[in-house]
Amino acid sequence: TNDRESMNMDTAREYLQKYYGYPDFRDGQKKIVASLLTGQDTLGIMPTGGGKSICYQIPALLSPGLTLVVSPLISLMKDQVDALTTAGVAAAYINSTLSGKEVNERIRAAKRGDLKLLYVAPERLELDWFREEMAGLDISIVAVDEAHCVSQWGHDFRTSYLSVAPFVKGLPNRPIVAAFTATATPEVMEDMQRLLRLEQPQVFVTGLGRDNLEMAVLRGENKREFVLDYAASHTHQPGIIYAATRKEVDDLCQRLQAKGLLAGRYHAGMSDAERADSQEAFLYDDIRVIVATNAFGMGIDKSNVRYVIHYNMPKNMESYVQEAGRAGRDGEPSQCILLFSAQDIMTQKFLIEQNPQDGERKQNDYRKLQQMIDYCYTTRCLRSAMLDYFGEEHEDKPCGTCSSCTDDRELVDITVDAQKIFSCIHRMRERFGVSMIASVLKGSRAKKVLEYGFDRLPTYGVMSNRTEKEISETINVLISEGFLALTEGQYPVVKLQSEAADVLKGQREVMQRVPRPSKAAGSQRS
Ligand code: ADP
Ligand code: ZN
Repeated sequence: TNDRESMNMDTAREYLQKYYGYPDFRDGQKKIVASLLTGQDTLGIMPTGGGKSICYQIPALLSPGLTLVVSPLISLMKDQVDALTTAGVAAAYINSTLSGKEVNERIRAAKRGDLKLLYVAPERLELDWFREEMAGLDISIVAVDEAHCVSQWGHDFRTSYLSVAPFVKGLPNRPIVAAFTATATPEVMEDMQRLLRLEQPQVFVTGLGRDNLEMAVLRGENKREFVLDYAASHTHQPGIIYAATRKEVDDLCQRLQAKGLLAGRYHAGMSDAERADSQEAFLYDDIRVIVATNAFGMGIDKSNVRYVIHYNMPKNMESYVQEAGRAGRDGEPSQCILLFSAQDIMTQKFLIEQNPQDGERKQNDYRKLQQMIDYCYTTRCLRSAMLDYFGEEHEDKPCGTCSSCTDDRELVDITVDAQKIFSCIHRMRERFGVSMIASVLKGSRAKKVLEYGFDRLPTYGVMSNRTEKEISETINVLISEGFLALTEGQYPVVKLQSEAADVLKGQREVMQRVPRPSKAAGSQRS
């Protein structure tokens, strides 16, 4: 069968050239197409813009029967079908915008074998009459787009996705099931396999760490100055600046325009027409930089975005990677810069608390937020950290381009500070959060500190030569390095981990990057 497979792949490539005009598959696409062509259920994880649609469209062309595509957005459905039809592929969609007569015509066309691809919304799979019609067809593949919608852990759970599995089960011959998404946390991956009832699926996670993207996390910048300077020195390049609030978007946009830059804005507070104008202007390079909330980006296909700056830390790694991934889709070098400040943590916690939802989901949100914070504090290679988070296999070597890899700041031995912090946490019985611990180490006279009698602890004021902010920073570094852990919830408590014990016993050193060459004893170059 090896010959047949390679023959299939040759035909697949031919079709790719013929219908799409692309010389070859991307690496991730090749594996997924090959997997589907050998008849295996397949789970493909790809970032937005990674080229998911081709992964099922090409196998659809090479399969004898119909490929049914489950797709959540009516507008995207229409765009896809239009593009396919233009390329000469027999495709159609059925959704609520059609009349009964139109729906019947399309089902008849499918029955005659005149269609290769049929797009439907998941809700349709719940209708008895539709299920019966489909059972009378020869369906080769069921492709589930945005498959993370089946999981409650994801960010947009849709109940109707739960009807995919029973739908497939009700078909006389089991088709191949292919599922696609850009979300790849372990919980969501598990849910997709289980709830879509994939049978021994081949799982491919690809393309998250596109090596043309230079990732950076900058802490302690004057954000506003940074953004204005950056945009001013990249006036010939398209860029996106994500900010957390509408107010911030308006303000930044105004300042950029005041500097004479071609800047526009995009957020949910603008009218539909205004937003469409902004989007258009950005697509056609009438504006260079767009300042936007995370409302911007769904369905945007601009390949030459040279930079994405996050003015605030997003709520989780999934959002971050999705938004940052809008840079450099053409494969050219591009920058993804996250401007982090501790205030962002407060903002995100506030948003989680604002959001009415049950305890379990809230805990999940807090856990994801903590992982995002860890990413902001890590001294590891950012690309490796990101790929590890999403479980994508990668070489165990630093990327060489991220802000950790190119960081030439002094790496300082902070073992003694770490010991002071750990011992203070221990004496405070592991019952307090970062800022309270910092206050005690600083020797603060704050009311709360005195009320608890912490001014009588031997560790009170042992770091009085630092600011509380600096002490908090160091504690956060120790958290992201795994020496400490935070409990979940709105007021997380710092807990000692077993690694901390090694440090207290003097069996392990701790290093931290510091902004300026430090005169601290024992400092050394990396
Ligand atoms: P996704 O659905 O994963 O967001 P799309 O399928 O819309 O991504 O593809 C994203 C972009 O990449 C599109 O512009 C598409 O034409 C392009 N693309 C996909 N596959 C290839 C390929 N093999 N070679 C060149 N361009 C490709
Ligand atoms: Zn790196």
